[in-house]
Amino acid sequence: MRALQMVDTKNQYLKIKKEVDEAVINVMESSQFIGGKIVNDFAMNLATYNGSKHVIPCANGTDALQIAMMALGLKAGDEVITPSFTYIATVEVAALLGIKPIFVEVDKRTFCIDPAAIEKAITPKTKAIIPVHLYGHAAEMEAIMDIANRHHLFVIEDNAQAIGNEYVFSDGRKKKTGSIGHIGCTSFYPSKNLGAFGDGGAIFTDDDALAEQLKMIASHGQSRRYYHDVVGCNSRLDAVQAAILDIKLKHLDEYNKARRKAADYYDHAFNEYTEIVTPFRAKNNNHVFHQYTLILQNADRDALNTFLSENGIPSMIYYPVPAHRQKMFDAFGGSAYELPLTDWLTERVISLPIHTELEEEQQAFICKKVVEFINKK
Ligand SMILES: *Cc1c(COP(=O)(O)O)cnc(C)c1O
Repeated sequence: MRALQMVDTKNQYLKIKKEVDEAVINVMESSQFIGGKIVNDFAMNLATYNGSKHVIPCANGTDALQIAMMALGLKAGDEVITPSFTYIATVEVAALLGIKPIFVEVDKRTFCIDPAAIEKAITPKTKAIIPVHLYGHAAEMEAIMDIANRHHLFVIEDNAQAIGNEYVFSDGRKKKTGSIGHIGCTSFYPSKNLGAFGDGGAIFTDDDALAEQLKMIASHGQSRRYYHDVVGCNSRLDAVQAAILDIKLKHLDEYNKARRKAADYYDHAFNEYTEIVTPFRAKNNNHVFHQYTLILQNADRDALNTFLSENGIPSMIYYPVPAHRQKMFDAFGGSAYELPLTDWLTERVISLPIHTELEEEQQAFICKKVVEFINKK
């Protein structure tokens, strides 16, 4: 059996090696390392794939979120409503801009922001809602857009973990996550569902004026070369990454399907164990399983983590400390929050290996060990 990994980018690469190697050499030979046709082509293909009018490539997912907040004119003293149960990047950039993150609870089943909690957290200072499609499951976007429209708020989707997920509205309309809010942000960090061979990110919008603003901010606030209209930053996706991503984009649906199949296998294996809550899948979106995350109840999560590790099985706690309990947010009153469900989840979640190259033999072994732990408890 192949050694187990949380994510197997090596074997995924080997399957498309020839095409990728050629594309990289092509960039070398063109010597167009920054910007140019390859980056533009990828942006257009991604826009088509995601059903978004504009895609602005940038250096990483964290930058994408920062540029989005800047383009919407959010400034120091404004508030954004966001889950605490997320990766720090979602909220860190708000703080960096002096914007106050207002942390709210998630839905216990989906791990995504709870729409009812959003409504209660709105104040006259609220400017935006930042839902996170955590682990690949979509947040309840229809309810979120409805709240945003009623209160005249912006919605920035953190789609770093859910690229390729399709969300179905109650009237039957279908939209990819990241194309539903005013702006969508994603990351091409190597382990993401659409992963580069380095860093990368992208910003999605249907709004022409916003697209101009996003482009300008990502490029030193330039409206044209050497004319800097607004304070911006330097955030670019390089051509080598764009070339690789353009190839991988063609495989994205098949990659997500492989992840879903691996999730099905786990679901089935853990079905009868009351100690294990397998990931919920709402009918209105197709989970892309960036992570396969269990809730362990009436069993010691940390002991399982150690037991798996002793058996050569990697597992991860995403995330061991919720955002509001990070020292970083002390100055924003983080410790004053009471988010019991977020704390409860933080103590009980555990993510098992999931990726496109997972073999049945590997999954059988992982499941056997998880069940062995549950049975001997
Ligand atoms: C990965 C990730 C980001 C940040 O992306 P980077 O490319 O690493 O900067 C933001 N939010 C979430 C939820 C992520 O998983």
